[in-house]
Amino acid sequence: MSSTKYIFVTGGVTSSLGKGIISASLAKLLQARGYSVTIQKLDPYINVDPGTLNPYEHGECYVTEDGAETDLDLGHYERFLNVPTSQANNITTGRIYQSVINKERRGDYLGKTVQVIPHITDEIKRCILLLGTKNKFDFVITEIGGTVGDIESLPYIEAVRQLKWELGSFNTLYIHLTLVPYLQASGELKTKPTQHSVKELLENGIQPDILVLRTERELTDDLRRKVALFCNVDHEAVVQSIDVSTIYEVPILMQKEKLDLTVLQKLRLDTNQKPDLEPWKNFLKKLKNPKTKVKIGLVGKYVELPDAYKSINEAIKHAGAINECDVEVKYIHSENIDETNVEKELKGLKGLLVAPGFGDRGIEGKIVSVRYARENNIPFFGICLGLQCAVIEFARNVLHFDKAHSTEMSRKTPYPVIDLMEDQKGITEKGGTMRLGAYPCKISQGTKTFEAYQIEDIQERHRHRYEFNNLYIDEYKKAGMVPVGINPETNLVEIMEIPSHKWFVGVQFHPEYKSTVINPHPLFVNFIKATIS
Ligand code: GLN
Repeated sequence: MSSTKYIFVTGGVTSSLGKGIISASLAKLLQARGYSVTIQKLDPYINVDPGTLNPYEHGECYVTEDGAETDLDLGHYERFLNVPTSQANNITTGRIYQSVINKERRGDYLGKTVQVIPHITDEIKRCILLLGTKNKFDFVITEIGGTVGDIESLPYIEAVRQLKWELGSFNTLYIHLTLVPYLQASGELKTKPTQHSVKELLENGIQPDILVLRTERELTDDLRRKVALFCNVDHEAVVQSIDVSTIYEVPILMQKEKLDLTVLQKLRLDTNQKPDLEPWKNFLKKLKNPKTKVKIGLVGKYVELPDAYKSINEAIKHAGAINECDVEVKYIHSENIDETNVEKELKGLKGLLVAPGFGDRGIEGKIVSVRYARENNIPFFGICLGLQCAVIEFARNVLHFDKAHSTEMSRKTPYPVIDLMEDQKGITEKGGTMRLGAYPCKISQGTKTFEAYQIEDIQERHRHRYEFNNLYIDEYKKAGMVPVGINPETNLVEIMEIPSHKWFVGVQFHPEYKSTVINPHPLFVNFIKATIS
C-alpha cells in the first residue's frame, strides 16, 4: 500500500463503551488480511502519563518495551495484534502541552502568540502522523479517549477534523461508537442518544463514516435504517456491537458485521483477500471449551477494581486457554487476610498469585499468603512486589531474620532484604523515574523458569524502584531459595525459585505485559499447568 490510512475512533453518549476493544478488533481484522496496523490512544487528561495515577482512578498502568507508562488500552492492542507498541502510541494532553511549552521556551515559535489552534492542534496532528510515517504502517487507528462533548477532547476532535481535509477522504475515516440503550419499561431500544451524539460531532465539523452501536439486544434492520437515515451514514455503515462473554470474540463479531469490509471499501482498498483468522479461532475454541477447571487466588490491594490487574487477568485467560482449563480467580484483598484467617481464605485453592503494588498498605497480608503457599506446597507465582514479599517472608520465617523487610516499607529494618538501587537513591521526582521497560535476563538451566521459557536469554519489562539485596544472596541459596534469573549487565536478581517446592517462582519484572493471544506467556502457562496437576 502506498500511503498510510488513518482511522479515527471517537465515542459518544457514555464512557466505557469499549472503544479500545473495537479499535483492537478492527486492527486484528485488517492485520489478518495482511496489512500492517498500529493503534494509538490519545488521552485528554493533563497528566503527562498515567504512571503517577492511582490504579483506582484509571486501572492498570501498562508498560511498553521502551519503558513508557501508558493507558491500559495499549495492553489490549498488544494482546490482539501481537505487535509491540511504544511511547508514540499513547499521547496525553499533558504530553502535548509539555512539548508545545518546551518549544515556546526554546523560541521555536519566533515571537508568535501560542494558542490551542493552531499550536496545540498542530502538535496533536504531528503525533498522529509521526506514528504512520516513522514505521510505515498501512493503517494507524487513533482512538480518542473520553466522550464527544467533553471540553478537554475538543482540540483532538479539531485536529482529526483537519487531518481529513489535509489528507483527503480516501486516506482518513471516522468511526463513532455510541450506546443504544434498552428501556425495560417500554421494551424498546432507543436511538436518540446516538442521534444527539452524532449531532455533537457534526457541530465540530465531523461527519462519521461508520457508526458502531453498542447494545445489549439485537438491533432490527428497521432500527439500523433509522440510524443510517438520521445520522447520514450508509446502511452497511451501521454496525452492531452486542455484549459478549469474552472480548476475544469481538473481532469475529465485527467480521460478521463486515466492519473491515466497509472500512476497506470506504478507503477504496482491495477487498478480495480473505482474512486468516485460524489461529485466533483456535484460541477462542480452547477458551470456550475447557476440559478442566481450577480455582486460584490473586492477592492484591486493588482487587475491588478488576481493571487494576487487567494484564494479569488476561494473561491468566491466555494461559488457561492453552491448557484447556477454566481458571476461576478468587480475588483476595491483602488488607483482609492475616494469620487468623489465612487458612480459611486460601484452603482449597490450587495456586496463588501475589500481585504487584506500591506502599505498605496490605503488605503483611501478602506476606502471610506467601507463607501459606510455601508451607503447603501450593503453586506460587509472585510478580514484582509479589516476589519481594516472597523474599521478605523467606527471610523472616526460614532465615530467621527478625523484622526483615523492604526499605520501601521500613527504612530502619535490620535486614533490608529488598532495598533501593544505588542510582535511585537521589531521585525525588515520581513521574517516569522507576526502572522501566525491557531489560535482559539470563536464566539458569534445569529450573522451573527454564522449563517454561526453554531459552536462556530473555527480555522482560520492569516497573519498580526496589531490588533484591545481593548482600544476602549466599544465605538465600544455602537455605533453598535460589536466584535463577540474573540481569547479565547489572547482576541484579530478576527471578527467584524454591526448587524443593512444587512450583514457586517470583519475578521482579512484569511478565503479564507480554502475554498475547497468539503467544501466551510461558511463565503463566506453566504456573497454570502446575495448578492442574
Ligand atoms: N513497590 C515495589 C518497587 O517499587 C514493587 C513495584 C511493583 O510491584 N510494580 O520496587
